[in-house]
Amino acid sequence: MLAEGDKLFFTGKACKRGHVSPHNEHGDCTQRHVMRLAERRDAV
Ligand SMILES: [Zn+2]
Repeated sequence: MLAEGDKLFFTGKACKRGHVSPHNEHGDCTQRHVMRLAERRDAV
């Protein structure tokens, strides 16, 4: 089974929160963005 974040793009640049990590197709980095996750959960 594929994980939710199977499509990752490593740009080598830090996200707006300062994480230097691969980003998914939505442009979100793969580091912990708890607030963002909560946002999504609320949207659903
Ligand atoms: Zn980040």
